[in-house]
Amino acid sequence: MDFDFIVIGAGSAGCAVAAGLAQARIGSVCVLEAGPGDAVPQVKIPFGLLYTMGSKRDWNFKSTPQTNADNRVFKINRGLMVGGSSSINSMVWFRGRADDFDNWQQPGWRWKDVEQDFIDIEQRMQPQQIPTPHPLSVAFAKSFRANSDAPPTPERESAGLFNTNSRNGRRWSAADAFLRPAMRTHGLKVITGANVNRISFESGRAKRVELVDGRVINARRGIVLSAGSIGSPSILMRSGIGPAAQLTQLGIDVNVDSPQVGQNLSDHPVIGMHHEGRHSGYGLVWSQTMQWAASPIQWLAQRRGRLTSNFVEAGAFFRVNPVTADDDRPECQVHFIPYMMGYKGKSITSGSGYFADVGVCRPVSRGSLTLSSADPRATPNIDLGVLKEEQDVRTLVGGFRRLRALLANAPMGDRRAPEVYPGPSVTSDEAITEHVRARSGTAYHPVGTLAMGEQKTPVTNTLQLRGVDALWVADASVMPSITSANTNAPSMMIGHRAAKLILDEVKN
Ligand SMILES: Cc1cc2nc3c(=O)[nH]c(=O)nc-3n(C[C@H](O)[C@H](O)[C@H](O)COP(=O)(O)OP(=O)(O)OC[C@H]3O[C@@H](n4cnc5c(N)ncnc54)[C@H](O)[C@@H]3O)c2cc1C
Repeated sequence: MDFDFIVIGAGSAGCAVAAGLAQARIGSVCVLEAGPGDAVPQVKIPFGLLYTMGSKRDWNFKSTPQTNADNRVFKINRGLMVGGSSSINSMVWFRGRADDFDNWQQPGWRWKDVEQDFIDIEQRMQPQQIPTPHPLSVAFAKSFRANSDAPPTPERESAGLFNTNSRNGRRWSAADAFLRPAMRTHGLKVITGANVNRISFESGRAKRVELVDGRVINARRGIVLSAGSIGSPSILMRSGIGPAAQLTQLGIDVNVDSPQVGQNLSDHPVIGMHHEGRHSGYGLVWSQTMQWAASPIQWLAQRRGRLTSNFVEAGAFFRVNPVTADDDRPECQVHFIPYMMGYKGKSITSGSGYFADVGVCRPVSRGSLTLSSADPRATPNIDLGVLKEEQDVRTLVGGFRRLRALLANAPMGDRRAPEVYPGPSVTSDEAITEHVRARSGTAYHPVGTLAMGEQKTPVTNTLQLRGVDALWVADASVMPSITSANTNAPSMMIGHRAAKLILDEVKN
């Protein structure tokens, strides 16, 4: 099989870059996706997230034991299907702060450069609030301003109902917005079940993609790696691009010694609290039996009701430390979920209640990813670096206190429920820190493992892989640092911008 361009991975960024290339009509474009299609109810119905996480449409990665979080192994969910993580995520839509992009300090990626890309992708995504938010989410949304309908923003302290990548009560993924339209009108080809092992080169030029099942696909003009922050560096290292000594040890021939491949891994650490009470949030209780029973019919007939919920319906951004002359940026983001979530190790529990977590917007801890074997079926060693730096722990402890105060003051009326976990007795710095180390998670936002930058970084600011020709990277792995909120929209922006950068290069 031969194509002009091959895109590896049909995720948030991959769908956008593939559509941009196909639209330009500069040759045939094929997307290789390891997972299956996305045409199943559990992907289309927002509430189905509960069933896709941990399913065969999830890579189900696991971290190495996290030494600063009680040696716990963290689940690392990633979408394994058409649409990638935009088909499994909680659909919360944020561009990030304008100065997140300025602070990348990369020519071509400042806010003034990327703003138009966000406007373009939002024309296709049309981010919007879910049709029927729970009254508790509406109440939490009033935490800072009682009369505002606006979503919260990382630009300032604020609370609100989130915008989501849903449309008319159903998930609207990167595949809906970019991939399928390009398949229909521009002849874009998508091959599912195509798990990529490695890329091979001829005279320093990326030429072929070898699949795990032995198939080989040729790329006449170039290859774009969009397999995400875990997949992309893993494929590169198997292709002989990475830290030379490590690759040699695994018996992989080195093509480019690139020591920073897999380094600089960053994710938003989060810590939560659970509230439980009668007639509070959604939950598995007898008194909600009728509503649960009616919900599929309501979704089918009206595209409304609890099945349109993306779980993470509302949230906030706030400061923890006093504002200084040169820094007034909110340090924390809150996700508010009007459901009784399981705790103490359970993912689902009976009862009615709500849950909220607080995360660090710009964590300073960094982790890394290395291969455990040259075998593509082996899981890589993923050290998330959670809470490596004390500053992140302090921010979470301060954020936890402030979140507790917000929840206590939100106008929840008779739906308010007491905190049951970790519980009101956990108040001292020591006790909250212990809770943070014992129970923190991440927001499923790994980025930065193939950061773009100058000289020694794996990728240039035009997204070319350093040291070889005709190979580009376009996904969340190229972010030099994590954006201040959820990372789906910035990943799509990267894919959308990548198509323009690649076209500039191949047309000249
Ligand atoms: C459970 C969950 C909840 C989240 N919630 C939110 C949210 O509410 N809002 C938000 O903004 N962000 C959220 N995120 C994060 C966001 O979805 C990601 O940051 C974003 O989708 C990353 O885009 P990407 O293109 O880098 O990677 P992905 O979208 O993950 O795409 C990578 C694609 O490459 C494929 N691939 C990987 N390896 C190979 C291989 N070897 N061969 C072929 N194909 C391969 C994968 O199957 C996948 O389709 C969430 C993520 C998860 C997992």
